[in-house]
Amino acid sequence: MDPQTLIIVLTANLLCSGALYHLLGRELPRRSGMGHWASGALVFGAAFAGRLFAGMDQAAPWSPVLDVLMVLATLLFVSGLREFVGLGAIRWYVLVGGLIAYALAQAIAMFYAGDQGRFVLELAALSLLQLWLAMTALSARSTQTARLRQPLLAMALLTGVLGVATLARGVQVLTLGVEGMYSGRPAQLYFGYASLAAVMLGLLVVWMVFVRLNRQLAELASRDALTRLFNRNGLDDILNRHFAAREPVPVILLQVDIDHFKAINDVHGHAIGDAVLRAVGETLAQRVRGNDFVARIGGEEFLVGCVGGDMGVAIALGKRLRDGVGALRVTAGDGLTQVSCTVSVGVSRSFRSLSDWEEAVREADRALYTAKAGGRNCVVAFEQMRL
Ligand code: GH3
Ligand code: MG
Ligand code: MG
Repeated sequence: MDPQTLIIVLTANLLCSGALYHLLGRELPRRSGMGHWASGALVFGAAFAGRLFAGMDQAAPWSPVLDVLMVLATLLFVSGLREFVGLGAIRWYVLVGGLIAYALAQAIAMFYAGDQGRFVLELAALSLLQLWLAMTALSARSTQTARLRQPLLAMALLTGVLGVATLARGVQVLTLGVEGMYSGRPAQLYFGYASLAAVMLGLLVVWMVFVRLNRQLAELASRDALTRLFNRNGLDDILNRHFAAREPVPVILLQVDIDHFKAINDVHGHAIGDAVLRAVGETLAQRVRGNDFVARIGGEEFLVGCVGGDMGVAIALGKRLRDGVGALRVTAGDGLTQVSCTVSVGVSRSFRSLSDWEEAVREADRALYTAKAGGRNCVVAFEQMRL
């Protein structure tokens, strides 16, 4: 294929990718970066279409504007990736300032070195931005989930090679002039690779979006919306994973129930009840140890798994949770009254397999019942009840 045909393919790729990113962006939460990727691909595609329209070898009066558009498009790609990985988009005034600086440098380069100066500057700028894109993808690997590391690495490689190739093209124009820009083997290789990179980047973006959405779905399915603690689904997952180990560490179950919670709702309203639930959930999550887990399994009922500890550790944990919740103060709707609450805790015996789970829940429940009957705001262990 001659470079001209490859550029037509590249232009079509960019415009189609832009439309795809736009559609993907509509399915994702705001600030997913897809909006910037869509604009970047569409602007790049439009700039190449403009060059094709003028005839690749001809310098049309609007050619310098097309160069600025290509720089803008690459900046938008960087911005989109930064947003996707949580670094924040490039601010609009940095974009505008960068483009103005580029346009000024372009005018100077054209004044002193004509089209050659213009192309060298453009290729140098595009190369730098492509390398920035590659570095952003590479460094984001350490902050993203494991499943995003592969597509990010592939993106870094693709754009890194593109950056080096663009730089080599700039050196070629600087040393040999503009004649080889759109003809000959180097141009053919460059635009062949750029077309391939555009297709591959589109697939990588779809892969990354899929990973992100899948994770959000799993999160929604396993977490309680009010407290962000595990729900029953999430709890099942944890238990299955824990007991799938060859020699699972024993677990002691603590059932935690807020005392007279109905009265809090009745006196202060449902919204304050919700705030209390959130605060209690947060306190429980903060006070457990690293491997322990906390789930909200009903209205004002929580299950805590004390992993690997003996009965003494579990009872101490129960008391720590009771004291932590007892010290909580949630401001009521009037902005003055401080709402407090207590919890009762029932502790099961230690269990070692998933088949003992139902029995452990029954034990913790009976111990909790005894704690409620014994005046609430206390910790009762099933083992002690039988003594
Ligand atoms: P006890 O000390 O015996 O546990 O008494 P209690 O009032 O805490 O228990 P009860 O089971 O009688 O009441 C639980 C209340 O929790 C009733 C229900 O309206 C409330 N509740 C359940 N889910 C939610 C929720 O998501 N938000 C709020 N605000 N209240 C909830
Ligand atoms: Mg209760
Ligand atoms: Mg209850």
